[in-house]
Amino acid sequence: MSGKQNSAVGEQSSPGPKKAAKAPKPESRLALIRRARRINRELAEVYPYAHPELDFRNPFELLVATVLSAQTTDLRVNQTTPALFAKYPTAEDLAAANPEEVEELIRPTGFFRAKTKSIMGLATVIRDDFGGEVPGRLEDLVKLPGVGRKTAFVVLGNAFGVPGLTVDTHFQRLVRRWKLTEQEDPVKIEAEIAAIFPKSEWTMLSHRVIFHGRRICHARKPACGACPIAQLCPSYGEGETDPVKAQKLLKYEMGGQPGQRLNPPPDYPGKPALPLGATE
Ligand code: SF4
Repeated sequence: MSGKQNSAVGEQSSPGPKKAAKAPKPESRLALIRRARRINRELAEVYPYAHPELDFRNPFELLVATVLSAQTTDLRVNQTTPALFAKYPTAEDLAAANPEEVEELIRPTGFFRAKTKSIMGLATVIRDDFGGEVPGRLEDLVKLPGVGRKTAFVVLGNAFGVPGLTVDTHFQRLVRRWKLTEQEDPVKIEAEIAAIFPKSEWTMLSHRVIFHGRRICHARKPACGACPIAQLCPSYGEGETDPVKAQKLLKYEMGGQPGQRLNPPPDYPGKPALPLGATE
């Protein structure tokens, strides 16, 4: 222990009453905004290739894939949709399908009866009310069966270029860990986060945050010791801080494993996912 540290302990030499430890200053609104935006910039450096992790070729495929992704992984959806879209490439085809055949095709995604109802229902509305094309407006999308705000924003942001925040389970957990909000309700979280970032950042911010949540800042055991934004995070230490142990917790391309997309964008540095049932 250094002499400086000894005198700080001050058992013999401190005259007068001891000062109470200073409570940390609450962060100002301006400081919070600066820190939040810095997190976004750092994540942009770490994940320059961040993207939606569902495979799709057009708005219809993205909409269906997003509905199927409820209660399952994007990987499982990506392994399931090639056969579905090969058989029913358009809303007209899916609307006219035999429900039992659709159920069989989407069975691996779970809740396949309810999901069949939703995707055939939305295909029918798209065919009957929108001339077979997925509508590009929030108010139309949320009226489709099985489509809530989260799904609508995914479709608007990634198929129509309309900025939107995707407040999924990862996004909710991370923004709370970063103390950017204390809200629990996704709609309130969305409003608070929207007020911190410029609209033009919303879609990419969502991808970056979700990428970080899936790879490093896991729900049960965040890999704090391998986290590039640890300096900016008030929850550092909630997970594994040992750098070697933390490194082993990393997932997907960060951990040298296949990603979630069978057809990732060309700039994705990791390995593509394997088809259903395939082994490396
Ligand atoms: S320091 Fe830990 S809690 Fe904070 S973002 Fe990184 S992994 Fe998550």
